[in-house]
Amino acid sequence: MARHQQRRALRVTTWLMVVLLGCYLLGLLVPATEHKVLVNTWLGLLTFVVPAAVCWLAAWRTRARRVVVRLAALAVTSYAVGNTYYIVVLGVEGAVPFPSLADLGYLGFFPLMVAGIVAGLYRSPGSQAVGVWLDALVGSLGAGAVLTVVLDHRLQDALGDGLAWETAIGLAYPLSEVIAISTIGAVAALGARRLGRRWPLLVGGLLVFTATDIIYGEQVSNGSYTNGSLVDAGWPIGLALMAIWVVSAAEPDRAVLDGRQQARPASLVVATLATAAAIGVLVVGARAEVSTLALALAGSALVAGALRTHLSFRAVSREAELRRQAATDDLTGLPNRRQLYAEGQARLRDAPARRRALLLLDLDDFKEINDSLGHHAGDLVLVEVGTRLRDCLRPGDLLARLGGDEFAVLLDDAGPGGAATVAAKLREALAESFGLEGLRLSSRASVGISLYPQDGADLSLLLRKADIAMYRAKRSGSGVHVYGGADDSASAVLLQSVEELRAAMVSGELVLHYQPKVDLATGEVSSVEALVRWDHPSRGLLYPASFLGLVEQGGLMPTMTTTVLALAMEQIAVWAGSGRRLSVAVNLSAGSLADADLPERISAMLRASGLEPACLQLAITEEFLVIDRGRAREVLTRLRQDGVQIAVDDFGTGYSSLSYLRELPIDELKLDRAFILPMVDDPRSAALVASTVGLAHSLGLRIVAEGVETQEAYDVLTALHCDQAQGFFLSRPVPAAVLDAWLEARAARVALAP
Ligand code: C2E
Ligand code: CA
Repeated sequence: MARHQQRRALRVTTWLMVVLLGCYLLGLLVPATEHKVLVNTWLGLLTFVVPAAVCWLAAWRTRARRVVVRLAALAVTSYAVGNTYYIVVLGVEGAVPFPSLADLGYLGFFPLMVAGIVAGLYRSPGSQAVGVWLDALVGSLGAGAVLTVVLDHRLQDALGDGLAWETAIGLAYPLSEVIAISTIGAVAALGARRLGRRWPLLVGGLLVFTATDIIYGEQVSNGSYTNGSLVDAGWPIGLALMAIWVVSAAEPDRAVLDGRQQARPASLVVATLATAAAIGVLVVGARAEVSTLALALAGSALVAGALRTHLSFRAVSREAELRRQAATDDLTGLPNRRQLYAEGQARLRDAPARRRALLLLDLDDFKEINDSLGHHAGDLVLVEVGTRLRDCLRPGDLLARLGGDEFAVLLDDAGPGGAATVAAKLREALAESFGLEGLRLSSRASVGISLYPQDGADLSLLLRKADIAMYRAKRSGSGVHVYGGADDSASAVLLQSVEELRAAMVSGELVLHYQPKVDLATGEVSSVEALVRWDHPSRGLLYPASFLGLVEQGGLMPTMTTTVLALAMEQIAVWAGSGRRLSVAVNLSAGSLADADLPERISAMLRASGLEPACLQLAITEEFLVIDRGRAREVLTRLRQDGVQIAVDDFGTGYSSLSYLRELPIDELKLDRAFILPMVDDPRSAALVASTVGLAHSLGLRIVAEGVETQEAYDVLTALHCDQAQGFFLSRPVPAAVLDAWLEARAARVALAP
């Protein structure tokens, strides 16, 4: 059958099912005896058989959720077959013995349906998180415990029956019902988007179906059941709802938004309700007779709940530790640049009326120390400088190491005079000599000062002005310079270079270097990161650090991003042409969030290039995610719909919480090199990396280590099951041709290896 014929047959059968169900309900409501055979026998039969047909038409040749859909179809069929047998025997012999073959069909429904649901939940992406499964377990045990109490007398009755076979079947019904309701608890806890867009239909259908079974069981056990009553409608209604769910679940999802998308709120509510229910069962159990099974289920629900709480607590403290490490400078233990931004910005916001001064301090002779005495000596000097600066300051002042030999101090409640005095004091403290491996050393520093509020309303503006002032101080040899209007001539220089940069972009002076990401399990390279360089005609090859600021300030980021994307796509195509399937990661700055038509531009470029979208990865920073979460979600969802991969760069250094990651469409985390460098010597750092790897995997994300500089780090990461590594140990970022040679040499080595 052609695809469209198949679809039409499915649609017609689904409508037939709905119409038949309507007729059947009407028939049950109108108690006219002459229609009894038509309603109870024929309609009764069809309302079970047609849902099975709907399921099979949907399941046939489907590619989405194949196992789930087929198991569900089998479950509905099993019930329909059992019911057909029942109705036929009833028609021919006037009565059906209990138990009979019909019961096998009826009972077959439960294990098949539950197996389908479990398979669906288990196979979906992002489902491996232990916490999520524990929520499901708590939900399911809690629901099970309550139902066991409700069904207690039926369980007891069944146990009292004579024949072993009868006992087993008699017990199987209430137990199946308990399992079905428990499964519903789990599905609700997981917010089971993984079971398709229409999962509430499944939950509703299964609930109606099982509730009918329960009511029927009660009525039979107290002798009040009559054939052809309204209760009979419950089964076909439940089956019809489930069949409609099967139809939608068999359709592939349009948007590739997986279970991570909205798993959370429901799970918390369900887990809480289930815990309360379990406590309720235990309380009832203390006063009245409650079966051991119910008590065991309730107890287990509480244990699982406690374990869940413990895990959440650990995740929260892990996150706090990650954040603390990310906020401090490893070498000096001082706050780092990010922390200065975060904390400084918060202070300006909290007390906007208070005067403040920002001091930017740069050592004058650090390069010589480093070059003549080595990096180790350089490090010791930096540690000593950090200590001395700290000793000179008041507790309310914020001292940070910005990187290299740059330090910054945000002074509380200070004007130009006070700031200059502090600057002089700091320089004096550094000038005092100290012993280093038998040598006497002292350090000179230049300090630039900017003032709040007059020089700028936010920290980045203050830093920029303090930077300009610091260069003034250095160039003039004055040691300290307070930023003033005259320094604005510096801005003229800036303007000139923005123009220069704009010209560079169109004349092809921007080039890309590529750094491979190596798969730690296989040693293969399937993706590379593109890093931009400015091949400056007179100043040589410039690194992003020296011109990205300018790009931002000059408003040139959209142009640069487009240029870089075009270069990267061109290269992907060249590689594809020579039989190399490499995906390329391009960095997006946080500012790109404001670039309104960026997603459309990327889509259009991809379409025009004819490349497979999965070949393009976009690396964003955590900053990108926190500035405007709604916008970030919109942009990422849009891009991911096209099939572009999303990675979060410098992970661990920002302020996004892990819960963001669960909600946003992300494929990869790149663990910042701040965590990789100390990992080999410091077991605590290694443990942190290990737990982050686990965390990433539990969210269904790939994790990549940045800044892998040594064999030791590479080995540790392999042992920790990190997915990929990138760093100088493997290769520096290099032009495409050099990377080709590197890849070939590597392939040859692998081929030669025994
Ligand atoms: P990033 O995204 O964190 O890129 C990795 C940086 O780490 C690169 O610096 C790379 O050379 C360096 N690196 C790689 N392996 C190691 C290692 O083992 N040890 C150490 N110490 N460093 C390593 P690069 O090329 O100077 O780029 C700096 C930053 O500039 C990038 O940081 C990225 O944020 C930004 N950037 C680069 N290209 C682009 C671009 O096309 N667009 C935008 N918006 N930003 C870019
Ligand atoms: Ca990057």
